[in-house]
Formats: sequence, C-alpha cells, structure tokens
Amino acid sequence: MEKKYVENICCEVEKESVKEYHAMAPEIVQTSSFHFPTAEDFIACSDDEKNNYVYTRGTNPTTEILEKKLARLEGGEKCKVFSSGMGAIAATMFTLLEQGDHVIMVNTIYGEALALIKYMEKFGIERTKIDVSSTDEIALEIKKNTKMIYFESPSSQKFELLDLEKIAAMAKKQQIFTVIDSTWASPLFQHPLSYGIDLVIHSCSKYIGGHSDIVAGAVIGSERLVDNIFENGHQSLGATNSPFNSWLAIRGLRTLAVRMNHQHQAIIQVLDHLLKDHRIAKIFHPYCGTVEQKDLADKYLSGYGSLFAIDLVDEDFGKLKNFLNALEVVTIGVSWGGFESLALPAFKGNNLAAIEKRGLSPAHVRLYVGLEEPMSIVEDIQQALDTAYGK
Ligand SMILES: *Cc1c(COP(=O)(O)O)cnc(C)c1O
Repeated sequence: MEKKYVENICCEVEKESVKEYHAMAPEIVQTSSFHFPTAEDFIACSDDEKNNYVYTRGTNPTTEILEKKLARLEGGEKCKVFSSGMGAIAATMFTLLEQGDHVIMVNTIYGEALALIKYMEKFGIERTKIDVSSTDEIALEIKKNTKMIYFESPSSQKFELLDLEKIAAMAKKQQIFTVIDSTWASPLFQHPLSYGIDLVIHSCSKYIGGHSDIVAGAVIGSERLVDNIFENGHQSLGATNSPFNSWLAIRGLRTLAVRMNHQHQAIIQVLDHLLKDHRIAKIFHPYCGTVEQKDLADKYLSGYGSLFAIDLVDEDFGKLKNFLNALEVVTIGVSWGGFESLALPAFKGNNLAAIEKRGLSPAHVRLYVGLEEPMSIVEDIQQALDTAYGK
C-alpha cells in the first residue's frame, strides 16, 4: 500500500499527533521549552533529548511530524529537519568528517556546499572536486583516506545524472559515506536510499515548501547515521527549524504531488518549444540529455523537475541583461521550487573567473518553470529573446 500510493503520505491527517481537538491540520507547537511534572521525569527526558521533548533546539512535535513524513517519503528510517538546506549539509559534514579525511565532490554541486568543504580545509579536511561524464571516473579519485562522496544528481546548473547504484557499490566496498543532495527531484521523483546511498539531503526551501516563503532543510537515512547527526551536527551547530516553518513545510507537502506532476508536464512542454529556438545554443536538463543521460533518467527518475538552464548563442553581456529585463511572466531571482517562474544569470559582469572555474559560459542562464500556464512562460521567454537577440 505505502509503495504504491507513496504520495498519499503528503496528505495523511495526523490523527495521533492532534488528539486534543481532532483538528484536521496539525498544531504549531510554538514553544521553546517543555515542562516536567517531576524531577525524575526531567532527569530521564533530558538525558535522552532525541526521544523526548525538552527544548525546541532539539526536538519539537510539529517538526517531528515533518520529519516522519519526509523519512517515509524517502524510504528512510529517520529524518532530521534543519533551518536551511545548508544547515543540513553543514551538520552532516561536521558530524561525519574528521581531521585528515578526504571528500570527493562530483560535478557542479550547490555553490555554498562547495564553499563549506573548502572552508573545512582549516580543520584538515581534504577535498577533490571532479567533473565526470561517467560515474566510473569517480573510482579513480578514491584515496586511502576518502571518507565521503558528496554529489547531486541531477547536478546544479548542468543537471547531469550519475549512476546511484554504482556510486553506492563502489563506496560500500571501501566504507565511504555517500551523500546525495536530491533537492531537484523532490522526495517524489527519486529515491536514492533504495539504491544504497547512505544519506539524502533536501533543501525544503524549494519544492517541499513550494511557496517561496520558508528556508529549511532535511537529512534522511538510517537511524544510526541520523541520530549521530542529531547529537552532533544538529545540537551543536544549532540550525533548528522553527515550528512555524515546519508547519509551512507540512502544508507545502500536501500539494507536492499535484505540483510535481504539473511541473513534469509543464517542463516537457516548455523544453519542446525552446529546443527549436535558434537563439538558444544548449539546454541543460535530463530531458534534453545524451542517450546515456536519458538511460539514467529512465532508471532513477519517475518524473522531471522543472529547473533547467540554457546557454544563449550570444555571449554579449548587454544583450543578456536586455533579455532578463524584457521578461514579464518570469521574474529575476535566486532560489526556486515555488509558484513563480524564475531566471538567474550565472554571469554578473564581475565573476567571469568564478563561473569559468565552474565550467559555465557567460551566456548561461538558469530558469525555473513555476506554476503559471506553461505556454505563457514559453511566450514570455520567446518575446524576451526577440527583444534582446532579434527574431
Ligand atoms: C537551495 C539549495 C541548497 C541550499 O538550501 P538552502 O535551504 O537555501 O540552505 C542546496 N542544494 C541545492 C541543490 C539547492 O538548490
């Protein structure tokens, strides 16, 4: 039952958690701390914070509803929610890595995650950042002290897929942790734990929240690993999600399946039109990928996320700005996963070296298809291209 209608988890009423009033929506338990009837209760609970409500920096009933839903959606034993995706990433790294450990970062990963690993050099963490076209190339980078393979699939900016099963198998042989940031696919379109990946990270600021009104994150995996991340990375770094933001994420989950199914259809419709446009040199999205990429998409994705990127044929910065300024339905802005379509240029006129280092062209623009009528998004992009680059 759960496997077949897994998206129903999003809409399930929390009958157990909302005993008091039989309310359909769960309570926002907006409290910092919890009280105890006796000294004995206090002592027992405060010695085991992950299983008791003591202080909201640790656990909170509203946040716990979200954690249980996300764990089940990913098919994991346990989930810990954080106040941002980066909070979840930082807590995971901080907990699992030790001085002298080596991390392999594969392909274009989220910029701030890369910055974090670089920063951890001062704690003696080594890193190798590789761009691979085939998953097998990762094996060549494994060293004696490799402790973690960290990746996204599809990756940020270029949306390249990797073979999750192969990565999990090569890592398991050498006791290396595998951590995937699976934000692009949401917990509905890809289930990395079922292929042997150790931990799945989501920025809940994107599809899970779904309405551009929260910043939150989550890590999902085995009870042993997630408890370790709770005790160390979560409790010590303190990136605690507020009960209200957890409640908004639960509300976002209610419509996740409907939104994702719409966005799967919408992205195909938009890409079918843009593929024909001579002012676009390249489209980065698994739907437009190579045969190998399409095979990986068939194996691992049950639907397409609606975040993609284009390289315009012309690298002129003035024209790029004209294109962005001419957009009317699509808004210029960071983040994604909400209701509104978005455009985000890689090049800002002052960061050429940085984007070239990431393998991106100055004509690279990340686009997000939101919940507007898909043809209105196509027409908007086309009219902005007409304005900036001519017909
Ligand atoms: C946004 C994002 C993050 C960071 O999440 P925050 O909630 O903004 O901290 C990490 N990975 C990916 C792929 C993202 O898109």
